[in-house]
Amino acid sequence: MVERSLNYLDNIKLDSLKGLGEKRYSNLKKNNLSSVTDLIRYYPKKHIDRSKIKSVQEIDQSDIEKDVTIIGTIVNVSVFTTKSRLRITTLSIKDSTGSLKAKWFGPQYIESRFKEGEDVAISGKPEIKKRGSIEFKNPTIEKFADIEELSETGSLIPMYPKVDGVSSGVIRKAVKDALAIIDIAKEEFQPGIEDMLPDEIVKKNSLFTRTQSFKSIHFPKTIEEYQQARERLALDEFIYLRSIFENLKSEFKTKNKGPKYNFKNSFVDSFVKDLPFILTKSQVKAYEEILEDLKNDYPMKRLLQGEVGSGKTVVAAISIYAVVNSGYQVALMAPTEVLAEQHLNSLNEFLRDTDIEINFLTSSVKDRSQVMNNISDGKPGLFIGTHALIQDKIYFTNLGLVIIDEQQRFGVDQRKKLISDSQITPDQLVMTATPIPRTTALSLYGDLEISSINELPPGRKPIISHLYSGLKKDNEKVFEKCAKHLDDNSQIFVVCPYIEESESSDIQAAEKVFLEYSKRFMKYNVVLLHGKMSYEQKEMIMRSMQEGSIDILVSTVVIEVGIDIPNATLMIIESAERFGLNQLHQLRGRVGRGEKQSECIFHVTNKKSLNTINEEGVKRLEAISTMSDGFKLSEIDLEIRGEGKVTGKNQSGRSDLKIADLRYDYALLLQSKKIYDHIRSSESSNKVFEEAKLLFPNYFQADGTT
Ligand code: ADP
Ligand code: MG
Repeated sequence: MVERSLNYLDNIKLDSLKGLGEKRYSNLKKNNLSSVTDLIRYYPKKHIDRSKIKSVQEIDQSDIEKDVTIIGTIVNVSVFTTKSRLRITTLSIKDSTGSLKAKWFGPQYIESRFKEGEDVAISGKPEIKKRGSIEFKNPTIEKFADIEELSETGSLIPMYPKVDGVSSGVIRKAVKDALAIIDIAKEEFQPGIEDMLPDEIVKKNSLFTRTQSFKSIHFPKTIEEYQQARERLALDEFIYLRSIFENLKSEFKTKNKGPKYNFKNSFVDSFVKDLPFILTKSQVKAYEEILEDLKNDYPMKRLLQGEVGSGKTVVAAISIYAVVNSGYQVALMAPTEVLAEQHLNSLNEFLRDTDIEINFLTSSVKDRSQVMNNISDGKPGLFIGTHALIQDKIYFTNLGLVIIDEQQRFGVDQRKKLISDSQITPDQLVMTATPIPRTTALSLYGDLEISSINELPPGRKPIISHLYSGLKKDNEKVFEKCAKHLDDNSQIFVVCPYIEESESSDIQAAEKVFLEYSKRFMKYNVVLLHGKMSYEQKEMIMRSMQEGSIDILVSTVVIEVGIDIPNATLMIIESAERFGLNQLHQLRGRVGRGEKQSECIFHVTNKKSLNTINEEGVKRLEAISTMSDGFKLSEIDLEIRGEGKVTGKNQSGRSDLKIADLRYDYALLLQSKKIYDHIRSSESSNKVFEEAKLLFPNYFQADGTT
């Protein structure tokens, strides 16, 4: 006797259920619901608590602070726009005991979705007016076609996302029937749905069984029961994803051939010994991991993660040395010219005593013929550049390794372009100070290998962070800090508010900040830099900053990450609550590159206290001002913002996470990793993968995520 698997249940089409005729079946199919598996995974978007259902007459003062639900018929719909253009929609609703009004403020277009004569369930906190009339403000509203059916459902009534042409009541009944089928013991089947996880893991983690979860997600007796079911099903989704990435990864390894190198580790070690400084432990570990990868038959896909200033470039230099000496080309791509130039300078330094030829290609390089010839001739060497490296007419013929710096600036497609130009699949090394959340998610699942440099070179002083409000007293403290750093002959960055609407409003805000600082520090050279300036102008200003002739550089968010200005010791971020966590972290990383103690001030918008900014803003500011680990910050960012689509595009109904939500389920994500590691080499992992292929087919269309 076996239990029914989700794959088996996927073969039972919904037209075999009672009450689902041809018409309904075809409507369901249009919504990607064709099998029992689809239907039991069609999770309710909410439940109405039956114990909270009251008749209009029953509502009294004791309900004012509680959520109650009223089920009734719409008798009137009206829309009213106030002088201040506020839109108010009112529905009058009546049941057999009385009537009430429900009002929505703001553009919600309730009137286009609900009509007179329809039955609805209204949930919210009621208000009782002086003369006894009852009103709901912005309640939730659901169509409720089958009031009579109420008597047969449990205490929590599932409400489903809308399916055109099939009422919520029909879906509810179909789900019930589907779950009943599963419970029938028949021929070779025992009741229930096969659990992809072994019993002992289910028990050890106090999880619901799968059968229980599918029942309780739809028809729970209590909210707690619902939550446990949701937890189990969300956990399963993460386990599926993990399984997919693990399998894609091993498939990538068998299908792709990487370049073959003939360097000896001892040869690389002697290069390392001759470097101008001693590598940190984690730099050593990182480069050893990379060399190990390079030796494999399959191409490397590695993320080199490390704080700004942690010394990723030298690790890149070591990899370059190994690869070029084996007769291959290396392409190093930076997101901007200034950064490409900086790499050119440092790599010239690191590779000075070798005979590695360094080529430079950006859009401002005029005479390109020599570099272009070197590229197409397959001449071994290093090619440093920007997007110019992936222009249409450029074909690397002997590419061994692609290094991409600050990868969030490059799209996946651009990266692919470099890689697909050659016969063999080159090794890939992506360097980043703060992995974007997408990458965080992916790397958690294991698509990329990770090397982390988790310490700064010795002698660096950690940057001291301050969080200041926009209130007068704090504003004054900001200026005092400035004066202190200027007295010390240090330079200051001031980054201006980021305003979502447009670049020109960014510039306006920057001009305002610029005037403030100019007025306050008249004896100093205060300069403004913004995105609308010409490329040459910007370069000129950045160079004067580098040379030390600017004291305070006020700028919009245009200054590039990664630039080394050791004498800049104070970073002030104005309206810091408006910036994303990654951006704040990147900005802070522009200081702290020299011997002197650096500081960073996160300054809230003028006149605002911490209490008056939104919750997410407060969370971000608290995180950034107490933490310096970019990887942790990135994880927190993921938690705060949630991650939209974890895996590529959502093209069909079956694809992304249906019930797991990275905003709230971060702990489950981590748990899923542990559980997967447990079952990795057991029979269960095959079961998991079989289901994953069924439930997430898109992952296999969108190949190679990075
Ligand atoms: P990032 O990781 O931000 O790219 P860089 O590679 O630019 O950092 O390194 C920052 C600075 O630290 C550079 O000037 C580099 O030469 C120096 N550096 C790197 N590693 C070490 C080390 N182990 N000891 C001393 N200085 C180092
Ligand atoms: Mg760098």
